[in-house]
Amino acid sequence: MEKKVIFVLVIILLIIMGKMCRGELFEPTMQQETTEDTAIERTTEMEESIVTDKEEFAKQEKQTNSGKEETIKEETIKEETKETTKKKTKETTKDASNKIAQSEDYMELYPDMYVKKQAKIPLATVDEDVLGFRKYMMSYPIQNAIQNKKKVAYLTFDDGPSENTIKVLEILRKHNIKATFFMIAETITPDQYELIQEMIKEGHTIGIHTYSHNYRQIYSSVKAYLEDFYLAYKKIYEVTGMQPTIFRFPGGSYNCYMKGMREKVIDEMNRRGFNYYDWQVSAEDSVGNPSRASITRNVLKDFKKYQKPIILMHDSSINALTVQALDIIIQTMKEEGYEFDTVDRR
Ligand SMILES: [Zn+2]
Repeated sequence: MEKKVIFVLVIILLIIMGKMCRGELFEPTMQQETTEDTAIERTTEMEESIVTDKEEFAKQEKQTNSGKEETIKEETIKEETKETTKKKTKETTKDASNKIAQSEDYMELYPDMYVKKQAKIPLATVDEDVLGFRKYMMSYPIQNAIQNKKKVAYLTFDDGPSENTIKVLEILRKHNIKATFFMIAETITPDQYELIQEMIKEGHTIGIHTYSHNYRQIYSSVKAYLEDFYLAYKKIYEVTGMQPTIFRFPGGSYNCYMKGMREKVIDEMNRRGFNYYDWQVSAEDSVGNPSRASITRNVLKDFKKYQKPIILMHDSSINALTVQALDIIIQTMKEEGYEFDTVDRR
Protein backbone atom coordinates (compact mmCIF):
# COMPACT_ATOMS: atom_id res chain seq x y z
CA MET A 1 0.00 0.00 0.00
CA GLU A 2 2.77 2.29 0.95
CA LYS A 3 4.60 1.43 -2.29
CA LYS A 4 1.49 2.36 -4.29
CA VAL A 5 1.28 5.74 -2.56
CA ILE A 6 4.98 6.44 -3.19
CA PHE A 7 4.54 5.44 -6.83
CA VAL A 8 1.57 7.71 -7.26
CA LEU A 9 3.42 10.52 -5.56
CA VAL A 10 6.46 10.00 -7.83
CA ILE A 11 4.24 10.10 -10.90
CA ILE A 12 2.50 13.26 -9.68
CA LEU A 13 5.90 14.78 -9.02
CA LEU A 14 7.09 13.86 -12.49
CA ILE A 15 3.96 15.37 -14.04
CA ILE A 16 4.49 18.52 -12.03
CA MET A 17 8.13 18.67 -13.05
CA GLY A 18 7.13 18.13 -16.69
CA LYS A 19 4.64 20.94 -16.43
CA MET A 20 7.23 22.97 -14.75
CA CYS A 21 9.56 22.38 -17.66
CA ARG A 22 6.91 23.44 -20.18
CA GLY A 23 6.12 26.40 -17.99
CA GLU A 24 2.54 25.49 -17.53
CA LEU A 25 2.69 25.66 -13.79
CA PHE A 26 4.45 28.99 -13.47
CA GLU A 27 1.99 31.42 -14.83
CA PRO A 28 3.03 34.02 -12.37
CA THR A 29 6.59 33.64 -13.60
CA MET A 30 5.31 33.98 -17.11
CA GLN A 31 3.27 36.87 -15.90
CA GLN A 32 6.36 38.10 -14.29
CA GLU A 33 8.08 37.64 -17.59
CA THR A 34 5.18 39.41 -19.19
CA THR A 35 5.51 42.02 -16.55
CA GLU A 36 9.13 42.06 -17.33
CA ASP A 37 8.27 42.35 -21.00
CA THR A 38 5.86 45.05 -20.18
CA ALA A 39 8.53 46.44 -17.99
CA ILE A 40 10.93 46.16 -20.87
CA GLU A 41 8.31 47.68 -23.08
CA ARG A 42 7.66 50.27 -20.46
CA THR A 43 11.35 50.70 -20.05
CA THR A 44 11.62 50.98 -23.79
CA GLU A 45 8.70 53.33 -23.76
CA MET A 46 10.30 55.11 -20.90
CA GLU A 47 13.57 55.03 -22.62
CA GLU A 48 11.88 56.13 -25.75
CA SER A 49 10.06 58.74 -23.84
CA ILE A 50 13.37 59.57 -22.21
CA VAL A 51 14.87 59.60 -25.63
CA THR A 52 11.92 61.63 -26.80
CA ASP A 53 12.26 63.75 -23.76
CA LYS A 54 15.93 63.91 -24.40
CA GLU A 55 15.23 64.78 -27.99
CA GLU A 56 12.63 67.22 -26.86
CA PHE A 57 15.10 68.53 -24.37
CA ALA A 58 17.80 68.57 -26.95
CA LYS A 59 15.37 70.22 -29.29
CA GLN A 60 14.38 72.66 -26.63
CA GLU A 61 17.96 73.09 -25.74
CA LYS A 62 18.73 73.51 -29.41
CA GLN A 63 15.91 75.96 -29.65
CA THR A 64 17.12 77.61 -26.54
CA ASN A 65 20.59 77.43 -27.90
CA SER A 66 19.52 78.57 -31.29
CA GLY A 67 17.47 81.14 -29.47
CA LYS A 68 20.57 81.93 -27.57
CA GLU A 69 22.52 81.75 -30.75
CA GLU A 70 20.00 83.98 -32.42
CA THR A 71 20.15 86.27 -29.47
CA ILE A 72 23.92 86.10 -29.66
CA LYS A 73 23.70 86.51 -33.39
CA GLU A 74 21.33 89.42 -32.98
CA GLU A 75 23.57 90.87 -30.39
CA THR A 76 26.57 90.31 -32.63
CA ILE A 77 24.70 91.92 -35.52
CA LYS A 78 23.65 94.70 -33.20
CA GLU A 79 27.24 95.06 -32.09
CA GLU A 80 28.44 94.90 -35.66
CA THR A 81 25.83 97.42 -36.74
CA LYS A 82 26.86 99.58 -33.84
CA GLU A 83 30.47 99.14 -34.85
CA THR A 84 29.69 99.83 -38.52
CA THR A 85 27.59 102.81 -37.57
CA LYS A 86 30.36 103.97 -35.27
CA LYS A 87 32.90 103.31 -38.01
CA LYS A 88 30.73 105.01 -40.61
CA THR A 89 30.05 107.93 -38.32
CA LYS A 90 33.74 108.04 -37.60
CA GLU A 91 34.56 107.83 -41.29
CA THR A 92 31.92 110.39 -42.20
CA THR A 93 33.21 112.65 -39.52
CA LYS A 94 36.73 111.91 -40.71
CA ASP A 95 35.67 112.50 -44.34
CA ALA A 96 33.80 115.62 -43.41
CA SER A 97 36.65 116.91 -41.32
CA ASN A 98 39.06 115.94 -44.10
CA LYS A 99 36.84 117.66 -46.59
CA ILE A 100 36.62 120.72 -44.41
CA ALA A 101 40.32 120.55 -43.73
CA GLN A 102 41.01 120.06 -47.42
CA SER A 103 38.51 122.70 -48.46
CA GLU A 104 39.88 125.11 -45.93
CA ASP A 105 43.30 124.02 -47.03
CA TYR A 106 42.95 125.25 -50.55
CA MET A 107 39.95 127.53 -50.37
CA GLU A 108 41.84 130.08 -48.39
CA LEU A 109 44.83 129.95 -50.69
CA TYR A 110 45.57 132.76 -53.12
CA PRO A 111 42.95 135.29 -51.99
CA ASP A 112 43.85 137.48 -54.95
CA MET A 113 42.95 134.73 -57.42
CA TYR A 114 39.25 135.51 -57.80
CA VAL A 115 37.49 136.95 -60.81
CA LYS A 116 33.98 138.20 -61.32
CA LYS A 117 31.86 135.49 -62.89
CA GLN A 118 31.48 136.52 -66.49
CA ALA A 119 27.90 137.27 -67.39
CA LYS A 120 26.73 135.92 -70.70
CA ILE A 121 26.73 138.60 -73.35
CA PRO A 122 23.09 139.39 -74.19
CA LEU A 123 22.05 137.88 -77.47
CA ALA A 124 20.05 140.92 -78.61
CA THR A 125 20.64 144.56 -77.89
CA VAL A 126 17.34 146.35 -77.75
CA ASP A 127 16.87 150.08 -77.72
CA GLU A 128 13.87 150.36 -75.44
CA ASP A 129 13.56 154.12 -75.91
CA VAL A 130 12.97 153.68 -79.62
CA LEU A 131 11.10 150.41 -79.71
CA GLY A 132 9.22 150.57 -76.45
CA PHE A 133 8.62 147.74 -74.03
CA ARG A 134 5.99 145.95 -76.19
CA LYS A 135 8.24 145.88 -79.17
CA TYR A 136 11.04 144.70 -76.93
CA MET A 137 8.93 141.77 -75.76
CA MET A 138 8.07 140.89 -79.35
CA SER A 139 11.47 141.40 -80.87
CA TYR A 140 13.58 139.75 -78.21
CA PRO A 141 12.62 136.16 -79.01
CA ILE A 142 13.00 136.83 -82.74
CA GLN A 143 16.40 138.34 -82.18
CA ASN A 144 17.27 135.34 -80.06
CA ALA A 145 16.13 132.94 -82.72
CA ILE A 146 18.21 134.73 -85.36
CA GLN A 147 21.18 134.76 -83.03
CA ASN A 148 20.70 131.10 -82.14
CA LYS A 149 20.68 130.05 -85.78
CA LYS A 150 24.04 131.68 -86.35
CA LYS A 151 26.90 129.34 -87.01
CA VAL A 152 29.92 130.46 -85.05
CA ALA A 153 33.27 128.70 -84.85
CA TYR A 154 35.67 129.23 -81.99
CA LEU A 155 39.28 128.64 -82.94
CA THR A 156 41.40 127.99 -79.87
CA PHE A 157 45.18 127.70 -79.75
CA ASP A 158 46.95 125.94 -76.86
CA ASP A 159 50.58 125.80 -75.71
CA GLY A 160 51.72 129.18 -77.08
CA PRO A 161 53.06 131.74 -77.33
CA SER A 162 55.83 131.00 -79.81
CA GLU A 163 57.11 132.25 -83.15
CA ASN A 164 54.15 130.38 -84.67
CA THR A 165 51.74 132.63 -82.75
CA ILE A 166 52.86 135.58 -84.84
CA LYS A 167 52.13 133.62 -88.04
CA VAL A 168 48.73 132.53 -86.72
CA LEU A 169 47.89 136.16 -85.92
CA GLU A 170 48.77 137.22 -89.46
CA ILE A 171 46.31 134.70 -90.90
CA LEU A 172 43.59 135.74 -88.44
CA ARG A 173 44.18 139.38 -89.37
CA LYS A 174 43.91 138.55 -93.05
CA HIS A 175 40.49 136.98 -92.45
CA ASN A 176 39.52 139.62 -89.92
CA ILE A 177 38.54 137.05 -87.33
CA LYS A 178 39.17 136.62 -83.61
CA ALA A 179 40.43 133.60 -81.72
CA THR A 180 41.31 132.38 -78.23
CA PHE A 181 44.80 131.56 -76.96
CA PHE A 182 45.34 129.35 -73.90
CA MET A 183 48.92 129.99 -72.94
CA ILE A 184 51.69 128.17 -71.13
CA ALA A 185 52.79 131.00 -68.86
CA GLU A 186 56.20 129.57 -68.05
CA THR A 187 57.30 129.95 -71.66
CA ILE A 188 56.30 133.63 -71.91
CA THR A 189 59.48 135.64 -72.32
CA PRO A 190 59.73 139.44 -71.86
CA ASP A 191 60.17 139.92 -75.60
CA GLN A 192 56.69 138.40 -76.09
CA TYR A 193 54.92 140.83 -73.73
CA GLU A 194 54.26 143.32 -76.49
CA LEU A 195 52.90 140.65 -78.81
CA ILE A 196 50.45 139.47 -76.14
CA GLN A 197 49.29 143.01 -75.40
CA GLU A 198 48.79 143.55 -79.13
CA MET A 199 46.69 140.37 -79.31
CA ILE A 200 44.32 141.72 -76.68
CA LYS A 201 44.05 145.07 -78.46
CA GLU A 202 43.13 143.24 -81.67
CA GLY A 203 40.24 141.55 -79.88
CA HIS A 204 41.64 138.08 -79.27
CA THR A 205 41.20 136.50 -75.87
CA ILE A 206 44.06 135.28 -73.71
CA GLY A 207 43.22 132.41 -71.40
CA ILE A 208 45.24 130.32 -68.99
CA HIS A 209 46.37 126.87 -70.01
CA THR A 210 48.95 126.19 -67.31
CA TYR A 211 52.22 127.44 -65.92
CA SER A 212 54.39 124.31 -66.20
CA HIS A 213 52.31 122.00 -68.45
CA ASN A 214 53.64 119.17 -66.26
CA TYR A 215 50.58 116.90 -65.95
CA ARG A 216 51.92 114.72 -63.13
CA GLN A 217 52.80 117.71 -61.05
CA ILE A 218 49.73 119.87 -61.58
CA TYR A 219 47.25 117.04 -61.20
CA SER A 220 48.86 115.58 -58.09
CA SER A 221 46.34 117.43 -55.88
CA VAL A 222 43.87 120.30 -55.88
CA LYS A 223 46.48 122.38 -54.11
CA ALA A 224 49.10 121.56 -56.72
CA TYR A 225 46.67 122.49 -59.48
CA LEU A 226 45.91 125.82 -57.83
CA GLU A 227 49.58 126.49 -57.29
CA ASP A 228 50.33 125.99 -60.97
CA PHE A 229 47.26 128.00 -61.98
CA TYR A 230 48.18 130.84 -59.65
CA LEU A 231 51.64 131.18 -61.20
CA ALA A 232 50.08 131.34 -64.67
CA TYR A 233 47.37 133.74 -63.50
CA LYS A 234 49.92 136.09 -61.96
CA LYS A 235 52.14 136.01 -65.02
CA ILE A 236 49.35 136.75 -67.50
CA TYR A 237 47.94 139.46 -65.23
CA GLU A 238 51.40 140.98 -65.06
CA VAL A 239 51.88 140.88 -68.83
CA THR A 240 48.41 142.03 -69.92
CA GLY A 241 47.29 144.13 -66.98
CA MET A 242 44.02 142.19 -67.15
CA GLN A 243 42.69 139.34 -65.08
CA PRO A 244 42.43 136.22 -67.23
CA THR A 245 38.97 134.75 -66.59
CA ILE A 246 38.94 131.70 -68.81
CA PHE A 247 41.13 128.64 -68.92
CA ARG A 248 41.63 125.23 -70.46
CA PHE A 249 42.78 122.24 -68.45
CA PRO A 250 45.93 120.68 -69.87
CA GLY A 251 44.65 117.50 -71.50
CA GLY A 252 41.07 118.77 -71.23
CA SER A 253 38.79 118.43 -68.25
CA TYR A 254 38.40 114.66 -68.77
CA ASN A 255 42.05 113.63 -68.75
CA CYS A 256 43.05 110.57 -66.71
CA TYR A 257 45.51 112.50 -64.53
CA MET A 258 42.59 114.45 -63.11
CA LYS A 259 40.67 111.34 -62.05
CA GLY A 260 39.46 111.58 -58.47
CA MET A 261 39.95 115.32 -58.15
CA ARG A 262 38.05 116.54 -61.21
CA GLU A 263 34.93 117.72 -59.40
CA LYS A 264 36.87 119.35 -56.59
CA VAL A 265 39.07 121.32 -58.98
CA ILE A 266 36.15 122.37 -61.16
CA ASP A 267 34.07 123.39 -58.12
CA GLU A 268 36.96 125.41 -56.78
CA MET A 269 37.68 127.10 -60.10
CA ASN A 270 33.98 127.91 -60.52
CA ARG A 271 33.88 129.28 -56.98
CA ARG A 272 36.73 131.58 -57.91
CA GLY A 273 34.85 132.76 -61.00
CA PHE A 274 36.90 131.11 -63.74
CA ASN A 275 35.28 129.39 -66.74
CA TYR A 276 36.95 126.49 -68.49
CA TYR A 277 36.49 125.37 -72.08
CA ASP A 278 37.05 121.94 -73.60
CA TRP A 279 36.58 121.36 -77.34
CA GLN A 280 34.40 119.43 -79.76
CA VAL A 281 36.69 119.35 -82.77
CA SER A 282 40.41 118.57 -82.59
CA ALA A 283 42.99 119.27 -85.28
CA GLU A 284 45.09 116.49 -83.72
CA ASP A 285 48.10 118.66 -84.46
CA SER A 286 49.97 117.84 -81.27
CA VAL A 287 49.72 114.05 -81.22
CA GLY A 288 51.28 111.35 -83.37
CA ASN A 289 52.67 112.35 -86.72
CA PRO A 290 50.45 115.14 -88.02
CA SER A 291 50.71 116.51 -91.54
CA ARG A 292 49.23 119.63 -93.06
CA ALA A 293 46.65 117.39 -94.76
CA SER A 294 45.73 115.47 -91.60
CA ILE A 295 45.28 118.67 -89.60
CA THR A 296 43.07 120.16 -92.31
CA ARG A 297 41.08 116.96 -92.66
CA ASN A 298 40.58 116.53 -88.89
CA VAL A 299 38.96 119.94 -88.57
CA LEU A 300 37.00 119.94 -91.81
CA LYS A 301 35.46 116.49 -91.32
CA ASP A 302 33.95 117.44 -87.95
CA PHE A 303 33.16 121.14 -87.65
CA LYS A 304 29.87 120.97 -89.58
CA LYS A 305 28.42 118.63 -86.94
CA TYR A 306 28.19 121.61 -84.61
CA GLN A 307 26.49 124.95 -84.84
CA LYS A 308 29.04 126.44 -82.47
CA PRO A 309 32.13 124.27 -82.61
CA ILE A 310 35.09 124.88 -80.35
CA ILE A 311 38.16 123.82 -82.31
CA LEU A 312 41.38 122.71 -80.64
CA MET A 313 44.66 123.64 -82.31
CA HIS A 314 48.15 124.47 -81.07
CA ASP A 315 50.54 127.37 -81.65
CA SER A 316 53.66 126.16 -79.87
CA SER A 317 57.06 126.19 -81.59
CA ILE A 318 56.50 122.65 -82.93
CA ASN A 319 53.23 123.55 -84.67
CA ALA A 320 54.40 125.00 -87.98
CA LEU A 321 52.06 122.61 -89.80
CA THR A 322 49.04 124.08 -88.04
CA VAL A 323 50.01 127.47 -89.43
CA GLN A 324 50.21 125.92 -92.88
CA ALA A 325 46.76 124.36 -92.55
CA LEU A 326 45.03 127.32 -90.93
CA ASP A 327 44.24 129.42 -93.99
CA ILE A 328 42.40 126.68 -95.86
CA ILE A 329 40.55 125.69 -92.68
CA ILE A 330 39.24 129.21 -92.10
CA GLN A 331 38.43 129.67 -95.78
CA THR A 332 36.38 126.46 -95.91
CA MET A 333 34.51 127.23 -92.72
CA LYS A 334 33.64 130.71 -93.96
CA GLU A 335 32.28 129.21 -97.17
CA GLU A 336 30.06 127.00 -95.02
CA GLY A 337 28.57 130.12 -93.45
CA TYR A 338 30.48 130.15 -90.17
CA GLU A 339 31.48 133.28 -88.36
CA PHE A 340 34.33 133.33 -85.86
CA ASP A 341 34.55 134.63 -82.33
CA THR A 342 36.42 134.23 -79.04
CA VAL A 343 35.22 131.42 -76.81
CA ASP A 344 34.37 133.65 -73.82
CA ARG A 345 31.61 135.18 -75.97
CA ARG A 346 30.06 131.80 -76.73
ZN1 LIG B 1 48.60 121.82 -73.72
